[in-house]
Amino acid sequence: MTVLYKANMVRGAEWARFFAERAPDVPFRLWPDIGDPAEVRYLVAWVPPDDIATAFPNLELVFSVGAGVDQFDATKLPAHIPLVRMLEPGIAETMVEYVTTAVLALHRDLLHFIAQQREQVWREIRITPAKRRRVGVMGLGQLGQAVVERLKAFGFPLLGWNRSPRAIAGVTCYSGVESLPDFLSQTDVLVCLLPLTDETRGILNADLFARLPRGAGLVNVGRGPHLVEADFLAALDSGALSGAVLDVTDPEPLPAGHPFWSHPRILLTPHNASMTTPDTAVDFVLDVIARHRRGEELPGRVDRTRGY
Ligand code: NDP
Repeated sequence: MTVLYKANMVRGAEWARFFAERAPDVPFRLWPDIGDPAEVRYLVAWVPPDDIATAFPNLELVFSVGAGVDQFDATKLPAHIPLVRMLEPGIAETMVEYVTTAVLALHRDLLHFIAQQREQVWREIRITPAKRRRVGVMGLGQLGQAVVERLKAFGFPLLGWNRSPRAIAGVTCYSGVESLPDFLSQTDVLVCLLPLTDETRGILNADLFARLPRGAGLVNVGRGPHLVEADFLAALDSGALSGAVLDVTDPEPLPAGHPFWSHPRILLTPHNASMTTPDTAVDFVLDVIARHRRGEELPGRVDRTRGY
């Protein structure tokens, strides 16, 4: 019963160390050293090999090494093999840090101050109290919920928007497409933590920006294709949006000369908001494998029809 890992190789060495410590009886291999393909029962991958359906005849389960699964070509993964995404505390913890940093940066006008420093301009900006800056999170799943819980400490009025209804103390929750305009009209800083699906692709578009209060800020940590670039740049230029923090783009990496690199109202990071932590991820994978062998429900199992 071999577990094969095919993702970031530096972190792969850490996975191998934690597997050896915690499950010495489970053979663990790092791509491309796959050993006997017939022995591979579990695959942990960011992007699985194209020939996954034939390469490993006894494959039982595939893990996405990240929380998202849009990078998987579902047509290449046989329907009977469950796909499980990463539900481990390290991803949520690092995402919470990033979104908190981004929301506070927009709230406290850091993009203005960076520009002013470059120009050697000493000019104060009126401070808006947190209680008057409404923060709205799209997608109240594993990560969105962790984010709103931590943002409570700052005193922002909090809103959330989700596909199915949610009840979270201290957060005004909206659900469904029909409630999106209401949610947006009260959101001064919008955080996108949606999965990328047919329904959410291009959701950050001109219509959505027009429904936000003028001068709103945007944090996109979902996926690059959530954002319609031309609409976004037009919204920044018109002042509909005052600034944005983007961790994801389309494509990644962003090509040289792309307008996001140099736009003064955009803070850009290289898909680095959060990271799977080998220490805690190995515990999650071992727990799911044990449940799978006992024939139990699998936490993080992706619903292939929904796409997340
Ligand atoms: P979850 O599946 O736990 O949560 C997704 C949430 O989005 C669910 O609550 C779901 O609603 C909601 N949702 C899905 N579709 C829609 C829709 N059409 N309209 C409204 N709400 C919708 O995912 P995670 O919280 O773990 O991760 C979210 C995303 O964050 C990932 O898919 C990935 O794209 C991104 N991510 C980015 C990272 C980065 O470093 N930048 C790192 C990790 C993740 P419901 O409750 O009804 O299912």
